[in-house]
Amino acid sequence: MVDKNSEFSITFCGAAGEVTGSRHLIKTGGLLLLLDCGMFQGHRVESIEKNKKFLFKPGDIDAILLSHGHIDHCGALPMIYRREGNPPVYCTPATKEICSIMLMDSARLQEADAKFFNKIHARKSIKIEPLYEEKDAHAAIENLKSAEYNETLIFNETVSARFLDAGHVLGSSMIQIDARTSAGTRRLLYTGDLGRRKSLLMNPPSPPPGADWLVIESTYGSRIHDSAEDARNRLFEIIKRAVREKGKILIPSFALERTQEIIFVLDNLRHRSDFPDIPIYLDSPMAVSITKIFNRYSRSPCFDAEFRKYAEIDNDPFGFEYVKFVHSKEESQSLNDRPGSMIIISASGMLEGGRVLHHLRNNIANENTTVLLVGYQAEGALGRRLQDGVKKVKIFGIEHEVFCRVETLNVFSSHADKEDIIAFITGLNPAPKKIFLVHGDNHSRSALTEELKSRGFQNIMLPELGQTYNLIE
Ligand SMILES: [Zn+2]
Repeated sequence: MVDKNSEFSITFCGAAGEVTGSRHLIKTGGLLLLLDCGMFQGHRVESIEKNKKFLFKPGDIDAILLSHGHIDHCGALPMIYRREGNPPVYCTPATKEICSIMLMDSARLQEADAKFFNKIHARKSIKIEPLYEEKDAHAAIENLKSAEYNETLIFNETVSARFLDAGHVLGSSMIQIDARTSAGTRRLLYTGDLGRRKSLLMNPPSPPPGADWLVIESTYGSRIHDSAEDARNRLFEIIKRAVREKGKILIPSFALERTQEIIFVLDNLRHRSDFPDIPIYLDSPMAVSITKIFNRYSRSPCFDAEFRKYAEIDNDPFGFEYVKFVHSKEESQSLNDRPGSMIIISASGMLEGGRVLHHLRNNIANENTTVLLVGYQAEGALGRRLQDGVKKVKIFGIEHEVFCRVETLNVFSSHADKEDIIAFITGLNPAPKKIFLVHGDNHSRSALTEELKSRGFQNIMLPELGQTYNLIE
């Protein structure tokens, strides 16, 4: 079991060789600090098993530091409280607001999905249980405590932490841990998910401080993203085609950031004189709530200067006047009966649950439907299988043939690409003693390792699940 007296060490309890389930355990100064408490996502059965296994006792955790509100970084928090843990959770004020919405939605979604699955399979003996319920999400939310960027959190006389703007999504942060050890003060910098040098909405990551140990994401360690202008043009072409064919465009979208980016790009396109008349629906109560948070923060310095300038001229960058916010289940279902072209933005982004599955089920056989994938699709997820071109998929356990078009736009990533990551690492002064690559599959991690080695960086670690590294040298 965990030795709290270990002077300074890190154990990788998730997102080691894959992109979901970020959970990194820091032991120092007699404390156990958990950096992120994310949900594993992907194929249902597999991810349920992985989510159930914590590699530590929830009751032993002294505090949790949360990088941002995406479910693969915060979604397993309620399980800590369901299993008798009671630690405080520190995050930025925007993350606190976003995370509260995400966790309640996640609890409701799991309860509803389990109920629906069990109903469909009532005759078979297959039964699934939600990982947690609303009461557990409430318990987690009650423990959220906000800290501003750059504020120093002092845990005891030897350990402190700070949040720095990661530029990934609203409220996102890197986490810096300073620990006084027998070998002197040592600093670990965990990037969480790292933003791009130039994104659609957010600032670039804060100029990094030097660190002894760097734990950095590597989701796109082998890829360069498309330019925003290409994406605008392609999206415009897809919209024009849908209008011509009277087809629907179904955009499975993550409620946080991706949805607001899509709406913002649609807002840009609406300024073109030849933009066709097409209704836009945002069919995700969670995405609606988060879009409202974005609107409230739209003048805040966490958005980049270009966006803030745009928002001064167009005071409705998130489409409150023309995007139809769908609230009730009945309104959502009524979209199926509505003829003609339309854009439906709905969660979840990897088609692993939520209302988007009902829209997919109803439109997958129509060759004029376009499923537009705008986010990362984890291996095993339904969105990934569609992206890979499979011709038959199961939705709620029932097989459907795929006749609709499936298209992908890569620009909407709010993750650093290979060049952004390299620029970030080369900007660290002094260079870190060790670099741990997390939150990336093994292909991305190896490609990034080669690239970094060719630039003179040595000591690049590809931690495996459950592996512990000593951080005193
Ligand atoms: Zn994220």
